[in-house]
Formats: sequence, C-alpha cells, structure tokens
Amino acid sequence: MSNCKNCGAALPPDSIICTYCNTRVDIDLGDVNRYTIETPESERICPRCNIPLQTIDINFGDKFLIERCSSCMGLFFDLNELETLVDKSVANVYQIDYSRLGEIHQLKRHSDYPVTYIKCPVCRKLMNRLNFGFHSGVIIDKCKDHGIWLDGGELRQILEWTKAGGQIINERKQLEMERLKLQEERDKLRFQQGPLDGSSQFSNEKGFTISPYSHSESEIDLSDMFSRMNKFLSRFFK
Ligand SMILES: [Zn+2]
Ligand SMILES: [Zn+2]
Ligand SMILES: [Zn+2]
Repeated sequence: MSNCKNCGAALPPDSIICTYCNTRVDIDLGDVNRYTIETPESERICPRCNIPLQTIDINFGDKFLIERCSSCMGLFFDLNELETLVDKSVANVYQIDYSRLGEIHQLKRHSDYPVTYIKCPVCRKLMNRLNFGFHSGVIIDKCKDHGIWLDGGELRQILEWTKAGGQIINERKQLEMERLKLQEERDKLRFQQGPLDGSSQFSNEKGFTISPYSHSESEIDLSDMFSRMNKFLSRFFK
C-alpha cells in the first residue's frame, strides 16, 4: 500500500490518483533515490496525454535511460529494458508467496483508464496488450519494434509480483509447456514411423512396396505345399 506524497492519505490499491487531494503520485520511481533528466535523442509522445515524454536516467547500475510522462507518470522502456530492470531489482527469489500473488492478481490496475489500445510513443502504431509474465494480471502495452509502455503504478505491481515468486510460477509453466510440446513431437514421430510390430512396409526407389517378410512368407507357402504333396503321394505308396 502506498501513500499520497502530497497529503499522506493511503492511495487506493488499484490507482495512483489520491482520492483526497486528487494528486497523481509517482509510486514507481518514488523509491529511486535520484534520477536525472536527459535530453532525448528523438521525441517520443505519451500515448495517454499526447505530450512529449521526458528521458530520465534512473542511474541503475550504469546509465539506464527510460522515458517518463511528467503528467500521467507512465513509463516507456526500449525492448528488453524492462526485463533487465526487473531481473536486476528483484534477485534471489526462490519461494512462491501464493497469498501475496493472489492479492496482486486481484488488483487489476485499470481503474485509471478505460480498456483501450494505445499508440506506440515512437511509431504511433497501436500497441498489443499483453499480460506481463503471462500470469501477473498486469496488462502491458507492447510495440514489437520499440518497447513496452507501463501506466503509472504498473512497474511497482510487476516488481511486487516478481518478488512474490510470480516469475517462478511462470518459468515452471513454461517448462511444463516445453515438456508437453516435446512429448507431442515424439508421439508424432512414432506415428510416422508406424507401429513396430513387423508389419511396416518399405518402398524402394521405383515406388514398389516390398514387405520385409514377403520372401519368408513364400518359403513357408512352399514348404506347406511340399508337406501337403507328401501326404497326398504317401497315400499311393503305402
Ligand atoms: Zn493526497
Ligand atoms: Zn502521460
Ligand atoms: Zn513502435
């Protein structure tokens, strides 16, 4: 639970707007000790407010530049930057806190905006809506060419989800999916090879089908014929 930086009141769990003084609170970078505003290399536009985004260096490890809207507190990360930030901020999580995950999942931080597709700050094409980590419940907006947009508050929710072990569940589910895919491919291969009970047939280059047992079958037929002939002839030579 976060508090309003202006009046100190508790913020609603699913919003960054204080219900008492209407201040929009930066809960994502509020804990970052210092960040510096840089000159942007190219202009990027906030998909919520249609104003230019600020480029800020959050001094994370080395220089770590992200874009932020000073009005709505939304953040834009270039491709793979968000994953790097999450990996570096949340390390050594080996346990899953299911009750905390349940709480985080319940939040569904959407009360600040209606559900709608928004434009990429770089190319202005509509972005895809994706569930971060497949199961976090945080719906992020992603342009496959440029990066990920997070509305104010979503970064904190993603970090809390990761801290509670959400990523571990995600990895386990991915592994299980890989295992099922492998099993499926193995079954398919087995089906193509045919059942291994000796009835499989092979085709030669000319396309004739040769049964591997055709030769021995004819031998059996021949010996069967001999034995019947012997029986037949023996009647005359008793
Ligand atoms: Zn307030
Ligand atoms: Zn904005
Ligand atoms: Zn784009």
